[in-house]
Parts: sequence; structure tokens; C-alpha cells
Amino acid sequence: RVIDATPSSPNEEAIERALRPKQLDEYVGQEKIRDQLEIFISAARKRKEALDHTLLFGPPGLGKTTLAHIIAREMGVNLRQTSGPVLERPGDLAAILTNLEPNDVLFIDEIHRLSPVVEEILYPALEDYQIDILIGEGPAARSVKLDLQPFTLVGATTRAGMLTNPLRDRFGIVARLEFYNVAELTKIVTRSAALLAAPINEDGAREVAMRARGTPRIANRLLRRVRDYAEVKGNGEITKNIADLALKMLDVDSVGFDVMDRKLLEAVLFKFGGGPVGIGNLAAAIGEAADTIEDVLEPYLIQQGYLQRTPRGRIATPAAYQHFGVAAPRISPT
Ligand code: ADP
Repeated sequence: RVIDATPSSPNEEAIERALRPKQLDEYVGQEKIRDQLEIFISAARKRKEALDHTLLFGPPGLGKTTLAHIIAREMGVNLRQTSGPVLERPGDLAAILTNLEPNDVLFIDEIHRLSPVVEEILYPALEDYQIDILIGEGPAARSVKLDLQPFTLVGATTRAGMLTNPLRDRFGIVARLEFYNVAELTKIVTRSAALLAAPINEDGAREVAMRARGTPRIANRLLRRVRDYAEVKGNGEITKNIADLALKMLDVDSVGFDVMDRKLLEAVLFKFGGGPVGIGNLAAAIGEAADTIEDVLEPYLIQQGYLQRTPRGRIATPAAYQHFGVAAPRISPT
């Protein structure tokens, strides 16, 4: 999929790193979070303390990893990066924790996927900068307390609701990342184009931005495909017309929906009569995992007002009917 918001190859990850803003003032949008972090970081620096543990949540590609790196840089400390599924045993996490330097940032992506035994040793680490580790085996085994350097855990997750309560309670700063508006994405596309040395005009940047599902990662990905198109089919400059033709070729429609978005909406509309339809039935109907629907597809459709989540399941809104050029059924007042 062109528009999938997760990075798909090492090559792409390298490009992403190159496009990543390095400082808070280069980070576009998310003003509330930026303002808060600026204050908290500057206060922590003054006191020469570690920043409070910070939880970042929101759909993939909105800038959680980028923000974690920026926090470390602004704090003037190292960043160690790992992820929930990678930490299989308590020892994996203990090895990382005991190697941290004072006030370092430990970034754990997909923190909702930590195994319970690993999460268990994280609690005292977060609270008291201590861990209990088991030394030896069998009857000779004994538990030893180890002191850690003060550190900041930055956790990232697609849905805050998937964290256990004790883990969530240990974050002093909790920030929910929002989808970006067109003006913000236009800024990001313009900046990325400059870094890639790709000529682009204002309308061209705006066209890419409008079709990027509110997501910087997708904006950058579309930009690279549009640049290819401009080089092969045009004179290299990305204009509104070139962007439109390229995006049509990529099956990204006028509001930025790709094949999967349309498949999902069409299923709700035409297979399930507009809903309500449960997530399990929807997943089976479009051949996509329920988690992917909930984490990647649905948030943007809901935010844009095409889909609604109700206790009885997902329902299509009048905007969804309109997008597919069909009349919405009359809803009798209940
Ligand atoms: P996440 O960790 O939430 O999946 P990332 O931090 O990896 O997302 O961001 C994906 C890409 O989008 C990065 O390469 C970065 O260049 C770009 N990006 C994300 N947020 C911003 C932002 N606020 N300003 C500029 N670029 C951004």
C-alpha cells in the first residue's frame, strides 16, 4: 500500500530520519504539546533533573518517534530506542536500564505490547529508579535491588486505552497527538521538498498536503512518489496538476482516501447497509486485521466525519454516502 502509515523498509526509514525535524521549533503543529514540553523541558534542565516520564499516543506517522528524539536533544541527553515486542524477557529491559546515563531518554515504541513480566520490572524503575533482578537459579537464587540513574521513559502507543492502568498512571506527562491540518502539512511538504531538492510550488505542496490523511509520514511518502512522476512525466517541478495526476495514478482520491479506506467505507455502506457493524464482521469483510482497522484506518475516517463509532458498531455518516455519490437513507427519529 502506498499510503500505509507504517515505515515499510530500511531504505524508507533512512529517508525518514533525514526528513525528521531535530528541534522543537522545527516541529510543525501540535502546538499544545509543543508549548507544554518547552516549559517542562526547560524546568527540568534548570533543576538538572530528568524530565517526567512522557506518554505519546496517536495513530502511526504523526510524529511520536520524532518528538522522542527532539526531547532527548533538547534535554541534551542520549536516546535509547527499543519497542514493546522486542523486549521479550525482563533481562532485555534490565540490560538497557542499567546502561543508561543520568537523565537519558529511553524510548519504547508500541509500549502497549510489553509482556506483563517485562512491564512488572518497569514499575519500580519508573517510580524509584530501582530494579529487582533475580541472580542465580533454583534454591540459590536471590533477588537483588539495583539502583539506576534517573531517566525519562518516553512511551509511544497508537491507543492509550490499550495500556494497563498501573503503567499509564506512572506517566507524568500524557500527550495525545492530533491529525495535522492542511496548512501544517503544506509546511511539512515544502520543508521536505527543500531537503530532497525537489522543486515544488505552493499549490503543488498544498495538493499533496490535502491528500495525506492528516499524517506527516504519508505526506512525505506521497511527495516522493509525486517527485518521481514530475521528473518522468513533467519538467521536474511539482505543480498542482502534476500532483493531482500522480496521486490519481496512485489511487489516492480527492480527499486522500486510498484503496483500503474506500474498501472499508464501501463495506459499511453497501454490505452492511450503512451499519451499525461490529469490528469483527468489518475485518472479515475487507480482509484486514481488526487492530489495523482500529489503529490505522478508522481514526482518520472518524476524525473527518465519514464514520462513527457507536456502542453497537460502526456506522456510515451522510458524508460517506455523499462521497460515493449515493443518497443517504432517511433516518427516522428515535
Ligand atoms: P510515529 O512515531 O508517530 O509513527 P514519526 O515520528 O516516525 O511518526 O514521523 C514520521 C515522519 O513524519 C518523520 O519522518 C518526520 O519527518 C515526519 N514528521 C512527523 N511529525 C512531524 C512534524 N510535526 N513536523 C515535521 N515533520 C514531521
